[in-house]
Amino acid sequence: MKSAPFDYVRARSLAEVFDLLEGKRSDVRILAGGQSLLATLALRLSEPSMLVDIGGLGELRFIEERSGTIHIGALTRHCELEKSPLVAAKLPLIAQAMPHVAHAAIRNRGTIGGSLSLADPAAELPACMLALDATIVLASRTGERRVPAEGFFQGLYRTDIKPGELLVRIEISPHDAPWRFHFAEFSRRRGDFAMVGLAAGCRGRGLQLEDLRWVFFGCGDRPVRARAAEVVGSRSPNKEGEGERGERYCALRSALEKDLDPQSDPHASAKMRMHLAAVLADRALGALGS
Ligand SMILES: Cc1cc2nc3c(=O)[nH]c(=O)nc-3n(C[C@H](O)[C@H](O)[C@H](O)COP(=O)(O)OP(=O)(O)OC[C@H]3O[C@@H](n4cnc5c(N)ncnc54)[C@H](O)[C@@H]3O)c2cc1C
Repeated sequence: MKSAPFDYVRARSLAEVFDLLEGKRSDVRILAGGQSLLATLALRLSEPSMLVDIGGLGELRFIEERSGTIHIGALTRHCELEKSPLVAAKLPLIAQAMPHVAHAAIRNRGTIGGSLSLADPAAELPACMLALDATIVLASRTGERRVPAEGFFQGLYRTDIKPGELLVRIEISPHDAPWRFHFAEFSRRRGDFAMVGLAAGCRGRGLQLEDLRWVFFGCGDRPVRARAAEVVGSRSPNKEGEGERGERYCALRSALEKDLDPQSDPHASAKMRMHLAAVLADRALGALGS
């Protein structure tokens, strides 16, 4: 199939983007890396009358440390996050997650702003944003609005971006030592969207894991913090025999039943997803505690 006809504007400034977003047309769409949007156009899942290409706005493409906070511009590409020494040093969870995001060719074009705006519930970066307490910065003609990641993701492909707004950057305060992070997912093939994934962090190690935070993705309509399972995980010693690990898996699984609401689809049943989530949680305790 081919996309429906649309007008195309390559924006030369943020002011021009805001003018177009607030113009007479209600169905203007932002084009960033195009890795998701162009496929939905070709399949006629969306038919905007105008695309505003922000790809030339260099001021949205950066990874910088400002007063101890890491600022990431919306147009920063996945491959740039993957290779950034600053991300590796200060945001190791993101560095661990990036090789799981699609394939190298897609990471060369796809952007963090596009991934967060799309809000695919099986995507890696939204879960990392929640686990790291990131702030999403939205801009419009009237100024900037700062939204905590927890309130930004509002459902299946739904975010808090309001008409006239553009996601311009992400701000993350690094969690330095003794914080530790662990990222893992199950997918059918390397580069596919995850069936289930986990972005995890905690303070301390060994038998004492404090402030355990587990954010699951692919298990609901948005990334989900598994608070009941975090309580069980915080109380579970790490070095045990097989029998005790079996008990721990069962305890984690029944807590996850309260936290998660996975759906069945052709890739995995809801029951299988719940099992995989418990396996990821169990393994995360080993990884964070070692
Ligand atoms: C085969 C394949 C496999 C993939 N696998 C994965 C995967 O495993 N994990 C994963 O996370 N992703 C995966 N993706 C998606 C990929 O990561 C996309 O690049 C990303 O989700 C969207 O980024 P983009 O820059 O290409 O955005 P675009 O496709 O340009 O835009 C996506 C949406 O976001 C909106 N948008 C973009 N930027 C902004 C902004 N700054 N402000 C407001 N709205 C904006 C657009 O209007 C559009 O609605 C895959 C894609 C493909 C084609």
